[in-house]
Amino acid sequence: MAGAALLGRLTWLADEVVDAVQETPRVRTLVLEADGWDGHRAGQHVDVRLTAEDGYQAERSYSIASAPGEPLAVTVEELEDGEVSPYLVSEAREGDHFEIRGPIGGYFVWDGSGEAPVLLIAGGSGVVPLMAMIRHRARTGSLTPTRLLYSSRSYEDVIYRAELDQPAGGLEVFQTLTRSQPPGWAGYARRIDAEMLDEVAWPAAEEPRVFICGSTRFVDTAADGLVAMGYPPESIRTERFGATG
Ligand SMILES: Cc1cc2nc3c(=O)[nH]c(=O)nc-3n(C[C@H](O)[C@H](O)[C@H](O)COP(=O)(O)OP(=O)(O)OC[C@H]3O[C@@H](n4cnc5c(N)ncnc54)[C@H](O)[C@@H]3O)c2cc1C
Repeated sequence: MAGAALLGRLTWLADEVVDAVQETPRVRTLVLEADGWDGHRAGQHVDVRLTAEDGYQAERSYSIASAPGEPLAVTVEELEDGEVSPYLVSEAREGDHFEIRGPIGGYFVWDGSGEAPVLLIAGGSGVVPLMAMIRHRARTGSLTPTRLLYSSRSYEDVIYRAELDQPAGGLEVFQTLTRSQPPGWAGYARRIDAEMLDEVAWPAAEEPRVFICGSTRFVDTAADGLVAMGYPPESIRTERFGATG
C-alpha cells in the first residue's frame, strides 16, 4: 500500500514538551521539540506514540496547529474515556517525552497562495489544521480572500478564541455555537445547515477552494451542503478526525 510505504520512510522521533497552553477547559496546545524534525506544511499532521512502562504502545494522529516556520505545536481535545488525549491534555508536562512521526499528508494542505477564494469550515478541534493555514496566511501576508466558518458547542469551547477575535489580513470569521450562547451573542446559534452555508460561502461560480475538518458527520454535512450549492466535489478537501472528533 502506497500510504504504508510512505509512513515506513518516516522515523519515530523522540520529542520533548517545551510549552503547554490551556486553550479551553478540555483543550490544550503542546509545543514540541524533536531532533531531526524537518518542518511541515499547513494542514499536515503528526502521529504521536505513547509507550507505557510495561511496553504497551498507543498511536494517534494530531494535526499541526502552528504555521510552517513556527515551533511545532499540536492542539488536543480531551475525550472522556479516551486512551491518548487525556494524557496529552491533562497530564503531559514541560520536559515530558514521547515520540512523533511526520509530517504526514499532502492532500489537506494549503500553502496560502492563489487568487481563488478559500473557504475553511471547522467543527470543534477540526479548527486545528485550518488554524495552521490561517497562521501561515498571516505570516506570509497572503491576500487570498479567506473565510472561516467555525462551529463550537459553547463560547467556552471556542479554541484560539483571542486570535480569532482579531483576524489578520482581511480574514472573515463566522462562528456558530450549537449548544449555548452567551448573552448578546451575535453569531449563529445552530448546527451548520444549508441556509448558513448559503449565507457564508461564496457562490460556486467564484470557484472557491474548500477545506473542511471535524468529525465524520460534520464533514459530510458541510461537504454535501456545498455540493448541493453547485461546488464541484474536487474543489472540496476534507479531513475527518473520526466519529467523535
Ligand atoms: C488526520 C487526523 C488528525 C487529527 N487531529 C486531531 C487534532 O488536531 N486534535 C484532536 O484533538 N484530535 C485529532 N484527531 C483525533 C485523534 O487522532 C484521536 O482520535 C483522539 O484524540 C481520540 O483519541 P483517544 O486515544 O483519546 O481516544 P480513544 O481511546 O481512541 O477513544 C475515542 C472515543 O471512543 C470512545 N471509546 C473508546 N473505546 C470504546 C469502546 N470500546 N466502546 C465505545 N466507545 C469507546 C472513547 O470514550 C472516546 O470518546 C485527529 C485524527 C486524525 C485521523
